[in-house]
Amino acid sequence: MTAAKGTMVSKDADLPAGKGRHGAEERENHKDLHVREILKLDNVCKVYSEGASGVTAVCGIDFTVHKGELTGILGPSGSGKSTLLHLMGLLDRPTSGKIYVDGIDTTTMTADQQARIRGKKIGFVFQAFNLVPSLTALENVELPLVIYDMPKDERRKRAVAILQRLGLGSRLGHLPSQLSGGERQRVAIARALINDPEIILADEPTGNLDSRTGKEVLRIIEDLHHDGKTIIIVTHDEGIVGITEKIVRIRDGRVVKSEVLE
Ligand code: ADP
Ligand code: MG
Repeated sequence: MTAAKGTMVSKDADLPAGKGRHGAEERENHKDLHVREILKLDNVCKVYSEGASGVTAVCGIDFTVHKGELTGILGPSGSGKSTLLHLMGLLDRPTSGKIYVDGIDTTTMTADQQARIRGKKIGFVFQAFNLVPSLTALENVELPLVIYDMPKDERRKRAVAILQRLGLGSRLGHLPSQLSGGERQRVAIARALINDPEIILADEPTGNLDSRTGKEVLRIIEDLHHDGKTIIIVTHDEGIVGITEKIVRIRDGRVVKSEVLE
C-alpha cells in the first residue's frame, strides 16, 4: 500500500459511522487517486434574505472537485464568487441544494460538525489577508493551533517550519504592519497550511497585490498544488488561467462555462 492510500484510509476513519467506509474501499481499488471526489456541489442556490424579495447570489450551481485538483472559479465582481467560496468552506449554508465533502452531505450537519470539518480539512486565504494586527507573523500562524491544545513548543516548531518554507524565516517577529503585501499574503498562506488541510480555498488571493507580487503568490499556490493539495481559487484575475487545470466561469450567480485545461 502506498503512503497516499494509507492517508486516505485514515482520513475516512474520521467519518461518521456507516458513512464513507464502503466508499473508501471502492476508492482503494481504484488505481487513480485523482478520481476521489473531495467536494461536490449539487444544484446549490444561495438567496440572501434582504427585505421581502431577497437577493439570489448564486443558483443552480453544480460542479465537482477531485482530490489534488487546482480549480479556478472566474467571474466579474458581484457574480457570486465569495458567496460560493463561503458555501464550499462551510462558512455559510445554501438556501437549497447539497454540498458534499468527501462524499458526505454537509448541509444537514450541525454548526459544530461543520466547524470540525472546516478545522481539519479546509484552509482559507483571503484578499485582505485577515491577519491579526497586534500579533507577529509567527503568532498569527500559530493561532489556529491554539484551540487544539497543542503544546506551545510543538506549535512554535510547526509555525516556524512553514514560515521558513515560504521564505519568511527572517520575518517571524514582525507585525503585519511591518510586512509588505506579498509577505502578509505569505503569512496568511502559512496560517492556512498550519493544520495541514487537504483543501485550500482562496478568495481573490492576488486582489490586493501588484502584478509581480501576485505572480509570486500564484507560484506558491502552484507549488502547493504540486505537493498534492486540492486548491480552489475564486477570482476575476485571468492570470490564473495559466496555472489551473480546470476553469469554472460564473456570471450572475450561474456557471456559464466549465473547462478542463491540458
Ligand atoms: P463576488 O465575490 O463575485 O464579487 P459576491 O458573492 O460577494 O460576489 O456577491 C454576489 C451577489 O450577492 C451580489 O449581488 C452581492 O451584492 C450579493 N450579496 C453578497 N453578500 C450579501 C449579503 N450578505 N447580503 C445580501 N446580499 C449579498
Ligand atoms: Mg468577492
